[in-house]
Amino acid sequence: MPGLVIDLDKIHHNAKTLVMRLGAHDISVTGVTKAFCGAPQLAKVLLRAGVTSLGDSRIENIERLREAGIDATITLIRSPMISQVDRVVAAADISLNTEPAVIHALSAAARKAGKQHGIILMVELGDLREGIMPCDIENILQSLRRLPNINIIGLGTNLACRSGISPDDDNMASLSALAEHIDAGDAVNATNAGGTEAGPFMPPLSVISGGNSSNLDWFFAGGTVGRINNLRLGEAILLGREPLHRQPIPGLHTDAIRLIAEVIESKTKPSKPWGTAAQTAFGTPAAIDDTGDIFQSILAIGQQDVDPNGLRPPHGIKILGASSDHLVLDTGEHPVPVGTEIAFMPDYAALLRCMTSPYVDTTYIGKTATPRSVFKSVPVFQG
Ligand SMILES: *Cc1c(COP(=O)(O)O)cnc(C)c1O
Repeated sequence: MPGLVIDLDKIHHNAKTLVMRLGAHDISVTGVTKAFCGAPQLAKVLLRAGVTSLGDSRIENIERLREAGIDATITLIRSPMISQVDRVVAAADISLNTEPAVIHALSAAARKAGKQHGIILMVELGDLREGIMPCDIENILQSLRRLPNINIIGLGTNLACRSGISPDDDNMASLSALAEHIDAGDAVNATNAGGTEAGPFMPPLSVISGGNSSNLDWFFAGGTVGRINNLRLGEAILLGREPLHRQPIPGLHTDAIRLIAEVIESKTKPSKPWGTAAQTAFGTPAAIDDTGDIFQSILAIGQQDVDPNGLRPPHGIKILGASSDHLVLDTGEHPVPVGTEIAFMPDYAALLRCMTSPYVDTTYIGKTATPRSVFKSVPVFQG
């Protein structure tokens, strides 16, 4: 305690459903494991569900997958640190890149290791996180195309992360058009190559990776797929929601992951503090609703373990506040005895913090595991 309970059957269902729906339009799925710190249990479920490759943002997580014997194609989905290129080529088959200096270093590292390394060039399409400006792509490609031990296999983009820019027909068409333009330049270049360089400019781009879970709204609304043939999906698989409006995706489970915490104090207290008010432990003003006496409970979990704003409590329970190690609840109509386990639905931010807190235990359930009895006294919130 506290613990995450992760239903691998539900995650398998979510992944398989998305793989099939996207597969019908020839879009492959890269299953993203970063929210689970590259847990091999999750990776195996995703691969069984039909994802064609795995993706993670941290080299440590990819190394963890390799140590567990996973030999699927794995992509490093954050731009590699130039200081880590040896580890990157050793553990990852492909990386998403934007910096020529890093790609040169990857080339040297791959040559030293006697390996080939795949590169997907990320294109900036308005969210202003990683990406090469579209007007610079061709020049960069020209300068990189003959690097030894490097295969430039495609283009990618990432939206809705830093600035919340939605994937739509406009930006997806830009990515497709860029791919078309580059592949068409291929032929031109083959005839105009001149000098010492014979042969084609480059093999056609084989991976056009349109984005992350936030692309699903565009896709399900019948967006024009164009050249897009891959999406990198984490949140939608794990939480069954699209990240633009956090609405449930029809047919997916939204309750595959629950966070359980234990009640350590249960008292009737006034809802309004008394004394001289100043800052709280985290500087934010306390949100006070004077509703008279309430059934107040404290759970043994706090800011160090979870993002309290990302927790959906069970029906009838309200989160009043959190400090480092305490989460304070108004349990509504009923007092909740000490020792009660209460289950929450974490959002993506809450899940990330739980997974990286050494204090939060992780239990996998599914066909082969017996579900533990959780949340004995209050009905589990069912989304
Ligand atoms: C995290 C990440 C993803 C997966 O995002 P979800 O919203 O969890 O699907 C895909 N691509 C990149 C570059 C990422 O950083």
